Parts: sequence; C-alpha cells; structure tokens
Amino acid sequence: MRRKRTRKQWYEYHRDQAQLQGRSKVESEHREEIQCLRGVRDDAREAYFRALKAEPLSSKLRGFFDFSSEYRSATLLPLREDLDVANRALRDALDRLRALQNQAEKAALEEYEAARAQRQVERFEREERAARRRYEMRLRYLEESPALRSASRSLKEHLIRDLSEDGESITCFYCEQRIPIGESHLEHKRPLSRGGTNARGNLALSCATCNLRKGRKTHEEFLRQFGGRPLTSQ
Ligand SMILES: [Zn+2]
Repeated sequence: MRRKRTRKQWYEYHRDQAQLQGRSKVESEHREEIQCLRGVRDDAREAYFRALKAEPLSSKLRGFFDFSSEYRSATLLPLREDLDVANRALRDALDRLRALQNQAEKAALEEYEAARAQRQVERFEREERAARRRYEMRLRYLEESPALRSASRSLKEHLIRDLSEDGESITCFYCEQRIPIGESHLEHKRPLSRGGTNARGNLALSCATCNLRKGRKTHEEFLRQFGGRPLTSQ
C-alpha cells in the first residue's frame, strides 16, 4: 500500500531530485570526454596485453622484472608507459568530474533552499493579505448598517472583535444559534425609535428571524414574550 508522504518527506524528495539533476547535468556535459579517454585507455591496454602474449620464449625466460631484452625494451616498455599515461589521464578526468559534480550538487541545493524560502515568504504574505481582506469585509458589513454609519471606527472594530470569536460566525444574541457573520443583523437592544443609542452596550448581532420578530420591542420585552432571558443584564 502506498503511504501518503509527509511534508518533510516531500521536501527531502524534491531536494534530492534537485541535487541529482545537478550531478547528472555535469555528467552528461563530460560524458564524451570520459568515453574518449576510456577508449584510449582500452586500446592501450589491448595493445600492451597483445604484445605481452606475443613475447618470444627466450625473452620470457629472463624473469619478470628484467627489461634488458630487445623485445622488452623496444616493444613492451613503451606500450606499458602508454598504458600508464592513459590510465592516469582517465583517473584525473574522473576525479575532476567528481569534484564538479559535488560543486553542482551544492549549488543545486542552495538554489532549491532559496526558492523554498521565497515560496514560504510568499505564502505568508498571501495569508496575511487574506486575513486583512476578511477583516475589511467584516468591517464593511458593519459599516453598511445605516444605524452604525455614524459610529466611530474604533467602536466598529471593537464590535467585530467582541461578537465574533473566529471571524466567520457569531452567536445570535437571542436564540443563541451560530450563524455566518454575513447573515447576521445588527441589533439595537433598545431600538433607536424608543430612545436607544449607538453605544456599545446597546448593540448586538442577531439572526434575521429574531431581528424581524423583535420589531420595535426592547430586548427585555422581546425575551419576556418568548420566555427567554437576556444574555447580559443591560
Ligand atoms: Zn436568533
């Protein structure tokens, strides 16, 4: 069964991929050079071993480290030296390739980490902008209420903070139902038409049903009529 990858595993996966790409890019850039050097080395090895096999018996009998025979000094030794040179060239090229690959891997890692940090900053900014937009929407909602238009901005901000815990829903002052903030009605506990004010203590949010049923009653009259009790002693 395939397990879902965690955030950390995704990060490690993409980081390893970036490093691998850095390595293989360098390798493909040097592939031809390495192949060429390897070809030269293989040819030199073949030539040397062919010559070794063809060595006359009289020369062979001199012992392995004795190069005084004509065949060994004129034929075998130069071929042996060619093979050593080819071997060294190939080994140096491979060492250079490994060093370059390590460099490329490091650069790829740094690039990946920088891009990741940039993405995090962008996500943070996006979230901040979204939170700001939600806040402005709530403020606009309250500003659209004719009764509140004259109230001060700080009063509106206090109302939002006081009446909504999560910024998305409020609890109806009368029936205690949770409703989206956009569907709530601004409530004057004592109606403006009966001497109520825009003071904070006189303001509440309610659901549409309760607001319409309440009409011109004060909140005490309304709650008494429906058998409830006020949530606060205003
Ligand atoms: Zn209600």
